[in-house]
Amino acid sequence: MICEQIMAELISAEQFDNRRSRLDNEFVKEAEELLEKYRNGDRTLKLLLNEQMSKHTGFRTGGPADYFITVPDTDLLKKIITLAIKKEITYYIIGNGSNMLVSDSGFRGLIIRIKSEPELDFGQKNEEGRTVVTVSAGCSLAKLATECASRGLKGLEFAAGIPGTVGGAVVMNAGAYGGEIKDCIVKAGLLDRTGNDLELDRDGLELGYRTSIIRKKNYIVINAQFALEDTDPEESRRLIAELAAKRREKQPLEYPSAGSTFKRPEGYFAGKLIEDAGLKGFCTGDAQVSEKHAGFIINKGNASSADIHALIGEVQRRVFEDSGVRLEPEVIFLGF
Ligand SMILES: Cc1cc2nc3c(=O)[nH]c(=O)nc-3n(C[C@H](O)[C@H](O)[C@H](O)COP(=O)(O)OP(=O)(O)OC[C@H]3O[C@@H](n4cnc5c(N)ncnc54)[C@H](O)[C@@H]3O)c2cc1C
Repeated sequence: MICEQIMAELISAEQFDNRRSRLDNEFVKEAEELLEKYRNGDRTLKLLLNEQMSKHTGFRTGGPADYFITVPDTDLLKKIITLAIKKEITYYIIGNGSNMLVSDSGFRGLIIRIKSEPELDFGQKNEEGRTVVTVSAGCSLAKLATECASRGLKGLEFAAGIPGTVGGAVVMNAGAYGGEIKDCIVKAGLLDRTGNDLELDRDGLELGYRTSIIRKKNYIVINAQFALEDTDPEESRRLIAELAAKRREKQPLEYPSAGSTFKRPEGYFAGKLIEDAGLKGFCTGDAQVSEKHAGFIINKGNASSADIHALIGEVQRRVFEDSGVRLEPEVIFLGF
């Protein structure tokens, strides 16, 4: 009786594996056919197998994703999502990976990276006299900020040193030096998990400190609209240069990192709490609490994601012991 039960379980496990590998093969074949239609001579548009995520994260760590594709336009994005759902492939969206810690064992499924050439549309002024700018999610945030500055539009100078995409910045409500995306966004074009279009205005996006409804509902940003005031381009460029100099002075930009590892706890600064706990320079393997800015965990060269993950946990534990404050990571974990 027990023997029959074991045999039945083995057969059903084998059937499951066979089905999975059939679906995987079909996904690869149909994705290739789809990409061929969109390629138009662009050889960079391809489905990568077992792509090391270390090539696509700010920390420069992370193991292989089963499938990886960089999608430059919404139409293809929708088709890839539909195909992944049909073939029961789990998918995960990234932008520039600048706030991601991906496990050393990688990701079982499809990583869709939304990255594109800047598609900026400078439209009419709104009723408040601000120029409305529409931009694709895959555009670099720095590019958006510098382009707006050189056209004499102010409001995004704070974002010029944040190394992500517009999509990632909207999801995270990225901010720095007293500015945040929430200050000047008008609305965002989104997809739900099955690829249906929707649009949310500033209030509907529920932007908070490094959060938004997009994260909670797993929506996908495809574009965003900002309203910016007129300024002297020189003034705007000068502010960008000033903030860049501040970053270079205070932040360990010479090492891979995800920026500030932890959110700012109310009433405190994460870096100060970490420093006070005696953790400046503290290492786990090649992962280190930066000597320059204790709020940053850096990869000194050969850190693994496991090193960084362990160091994050150790910093949380020791800071809590030292100050009673619980640090919450700002970094997004994938595959842990
Ligand atoms: C040196 C350095 C400095 C930094 N300084 C700052 C700073 O000053 N302020 C700040 O706020 N952040 C900072 N960061 C963190 C990071 O750059 C921001 O959080 C950035 O907005 C992330 O954008 P990304 O495109 O890289 O997103 P990713 O890191 O790729 O993704 C972050 C999250 O957004 C999701 N996501 C990305 N794109 C989309 C999309 N199109 N649709 C749906 N979900 C999406 C991902 O699933 C993930 O959950 C810094 C990072 C580094 C390395």
